Amino acid sequence: MPERRFTELAKEHGFSDVRFVRPDPFTRWEQDARNRVTGIDRPDLVAAPRTLMANASALAVLFYSCPPFEQSELPPRYYLISQKAYHAAADLARAWERTGEQALCHPPLPARAAALRAGGRLGRNGLYYHPLLGSFVHIQLLLITGVAPSADGEVTPCEGCGRCAAACPTDAVKQNGVDVARCIRRYLYSADMPLDMRPFVERLLGCERCQLVCPMNEGIAPVPIEAAAKEAFAIDELLEGKCKAAVGLIGPNYARKKFLQPQALLVAGAKRQNEHREAAERLREQGVPYAEWALSRLDEADT
Ligand code: SF4
Ligand code: SF4
Repeated sequence: MPERRFTELAKEHGFSDVRFVRPDPFTRWEQDARNRVTGIDRPDLVAAPRTLMANASALAVLFYSCPPFEQSELPPRYYLISQKAYHAAADLARAWERTGEQALCHPPLPARAAALRAGGRLGRNGLYYHPLLGSFVHIQLLLITGVAPSADGEVTPCEGCGRCAAACPTDAVKQNGVDVARCIRRYLYSADMPLDMRPFVERLLGCERCQLVCPMNEGIAPVPIEAAAKEAFAIDELLEGKCKAAVGLIGPNYARKKFLQPQALLVAGAKRQNEHREAAERLREQGVPYAEWALSRLDEADT
């Protein structure tokens, strides 16, 4: 059975689960994206898989488990796993091609919409929940030949307990979904986070509060922080512009100085870490975003 063969290969490459869905257009996702009612704007994504690979018979939705780190200032572990899963998907594509089939890795398609087509749950916090891995999951996609998917899976909304809304410090989780403009994750790569949200940035590159309190993630235990990650994301090193070690862990796209330095300033300011004052003053001279704000927080703490 080709499905079984592919699934075995996927597991050999580190994926915990794989589901196959039809490579039909993501019409609903496209409408939502056009109306700007869900998700973060991703102009690089396309809605019709077969415009990328005309003879694709299936879209393989690959799930890589990524339990969170224990409490820390580090970026969500998701970014470290993304790097591993990205390369694993490329290796898997090559392995599938060695069986005589075709595969296109990293197709620019909406991963969450593809996962929902395979079935699962949709949280009030806007996140996809895998039946076993919860929301702590990284999704990769492969367009492939050789597998014929059956019917789509079922999507069930969460119970709506409201814990995510109560835990969200910026009031982003509303009754009918997430107000993206109020979500800390919306501002990972921009310098325009609203002032009233900045004091709640307690870690680099993200926020997981709404996931950590969710009962659908109850069985997912946090994992200890790896020493290499601790060193790579030390706030003082990032403020110095030393991002090389981070590149090795989360890849060159996320680990750019122009993202990590402002993020480090946000954390230093939000947590009022006075030991970073000198670095913040230097970065203010250089016009680095959030330096001025971080210093104003440190000044408030002094008075
Ligand atoms: S915390 Fe409750 S309301 Fe929020 S996503 Fe989880 S189950 Fe749904
Ligand atoms: S990621 Fe953080 S800011 Fe965004 S909705 Fe969840 S708790 Fe709120």
